[in-house]
Amino acid sequence: MAQKKVLLIDDDKVICEIALQLLSEEGFTVITAQTAALGLQAAAEHKPDLVLLDVVLPDLNGYSVCQQIRASAPHLPIIMLTGLDDNESIVQAYECGATDFFAKPIKWKLLGYRIHYILRASRTLEQLTHSETALANAQRLAHLGSWEWYPQEDRTERSDEYYRIYGADKALLPASMFAILPQVHVEDQVRVKKALEQAKKHAQSYQQEFRISAPHNGMRVLHEQARVFTKPTGEIDYIEGITQDITELVDAQKRIRSLAYYDNLTGLANRQLFRELLQHELQRALRQNTQCALLFIDLDRFKRINDTLGQPAGDIVLQTIGNRINSCIRGCDVAALHYEDDQKSEQVARLGSDEFTVILTDIDQPEDAAQIVQRILDAIAQPIEGLGQEVLVSASIGIALGPQDGSDVETLIKNADLAMYAAKDKGRNTYQFFDKTMNDVVLDKFALENDLRKAIEQDQLELYFQPKINPLTGIIVGAEVLLRWKHPQRGMVSPLTFIPIAEESGFIVELGTWVLQQACQINHDWQAQGMPIVPLAINLSAANFNHPNLLPDIKRTLTDLSLSPNCLVIELTEGILMTDVQETVETLKALKDMGIYLSVDDFGTGYSSLSYLKRFPLDELKIDKGFVQDIINDPNDAAITAAIIGLAQNLKLNVVAEGVETTEQADFLLRRGCNTMQGYLFAKPMPRRDFEQLLQAGIDMRDMQAVFMVDY
Ligand code: C2E
Ligand code: CA
Ligand code: CA
Repeated sequence: MAQKKVLLIDDDKVICEIALQLLSEEGFTVITAQTAALGLQAAAEHKPDLVLLDVVLPDLNGYSVCQQIRASAPHLPIIMLTGLDDNESIVQAYECGATDFFAKPIKWKLLGYRIHYILRASRTLEQLTHSETALANAQRLAHLGSWEWYPQEDRTERSDEYYRIYGADKALLPASMFAILPQVHVEDQVRVKKALEQAKKHAQSYQQEFRISAPHNGMRVLHEQARVFTKPTGEIDYIEGITQDITELVDAQKRIRSLAYYDNLTGLANRQLFRELLQHELQRALRQNTQCALLFIDLDRFKRINDTLGQPAGDIVLQTIGNRINSCIRGCDVAALHYEDDQKSEQVARLGSDEFTVILTDIDQPEDAAQIVQRILDAIAQPIEGLGQEVLVSASIGIALGPQDGSDVETLIKNADLAMYAAKDKGRNTYQFFDKTMNDVVLDKFALENDLRKAIEQDQLELYFQPKINPLTGIIVGAEVLLRWKHPQRGMVSPLTFIPIAEESGFIVELGTWVLQQACQINHDWQAQGMPIVPLAINLSAANFNHPNLLPDIKRTLTDLSLSPNCLVIELTEGILMTDVQETVETLKALKDMGIYLSVDDFGTGYSSLSYLKRFPLDELKIDKGFVQDIINDPNDAAITAAIIGLAQNLKLNVVAEGVETTEQADFLLRRGCNTMQGYLFAKPMPRRDFEQLLQAGIDMRDMQAVFMVDY
């Protein structure tokens, strides 16, 4: 440890000399000064650890010097050297701030001890001061106020930080512990007051949180902890407490909770919170023998909105829909609401993308749920304004009742989801209650999907061909390629069954490529055999059309086989054409530029917008067989069909009627100017060999009753 510096201010040279000698032997560094002026200067310069100060100095008395040194060094030990038993100077020495006195003549050995002792005491004092400052700092940083309350006198001693927390004036706040009550939030006042009274009357320690309003600092949340100390007699001695401002902590916890439990975009509950609430509601329903309903809401074709209007617009749509669902719930299920500050019901959740859920509690009968669901559907269907164009959204809703349709969270969610898919199958913008057969349907679909994936390699798929006829000449002008699946156990499975499954599972991409290659290969083989050239029309699903490999695949297939693009027709539905207009135009143009013939399938059933017909480079319209079927009996269908034919003629498009079954239908179409037909009247879709024979025979297809009779 560094040597301690002792400053001796005394005009007696002998004393100075002795001090230098003896105190140095005691391990001190000694500095001497023989006048008050020199002494003050040395005190400032050398910063001694202790000062020995003679009362009598030539230039100034020692008391004044003591005062001056003390003024700038409040903790520096100063020992005044006084005359023996000179009581007056001893008192005066203390009054001017001396730490101690020592009588002259000096007993040097004793002085050494005294200096050691005082230095040690001063060090302890310094440490104590340091700890106190540190404590005060720590309390300030932690927003932690401390207090002692003497309830007998209702007097409270509070730390500085306590006053700071309350924004209270130390001089003005009454000593009573109850003085802070007016600042406590009205809703918490009774509770806080009661805790104080219990502590005072029944020596009850407490711990509680409450809100206060602090001047200039708004509402704060405090945590207060109090411990009652009693005397041996059992009487309350005093109560010690700490009060902490935990506003930031509470805010942070709120933020964390909101990140963990709420959906950022809509402010609705997220999947996590939804599951916890559902669990809770299910258990409650089981316990109290009541019923709850889980609604699974999926927006119809939301992806299209996102794709065409952009994601920011999609986000606005989701927010709007979220709010609408929320307000439908607010109006009707008041009993079970737990509102957050922003008036969002936790019963409504967004699980991700365009999926929402609602938990309805205390449902007496399914009709109650149905009523609310209908209200939600209606609210969603209202046009959404402010996005540059009016946006219309619809939803499909599945409903599962708990505990009847599932007594655990997993099952109930799965079943509501199944019901939602059933609602979509029913034609969207509608709802569907879960029923037990849905599970079987799904299992069956699942099994079919699995089998379908193996169908190509196990050679169960086959292309059928259905001729397109010129009714005036009876000549086959082309054929539509239609897929057939011979399932080893189930027999013939209709494309109406397996194409949607392939579309849902994404397998349609592989399937489409396979059909394209097969059709082109067969066409190539026919030409190699010298048979008449027939363009083959293949059907493309949306996933095929939008796949980035579409153009390269077609190009490569045609080049590999040296097949002319004229031999390929692509049939597309109106739905595909309407998705992403810009990209669709580009793909269509590319196909057109390659020389491929483009046909719109099932025309009249989709969005039939005249404007798109003009913008797309199309070659052909196929009148949907639904219209053709009824042209004889239904004047509407007759009118629509006639209009489509007229439209096609105006736009210089070829028009094909499909599903022609009777000569009356063929007559009607012919008279209106339809020059291509396809249907059972002429031929059903048939296997390759049969179609080859038909081609080679060069039969006039107008006499095709024979073919019509053959049933495949
Ligand atoms: P589509 O493209 O509208 O095909 C016409 C459907 O009408 C065919 O049913 C055909 O057999 C049937 N049909 C033809 N003439 C008549 C008739 O006179 N009366 C009646 N009632 N029906 C007639 P199919 O072969 O069962 O195909 C059903 C649907 O499956 C097709 O409808 C098409 O959308 C889809 N499909 C078939 N093959 C493929 C394929 O390779 N790829 C894709 N993506 N879809 C396919
Ligand atoms: Ca077709
Ligand atoms: Ca069709």
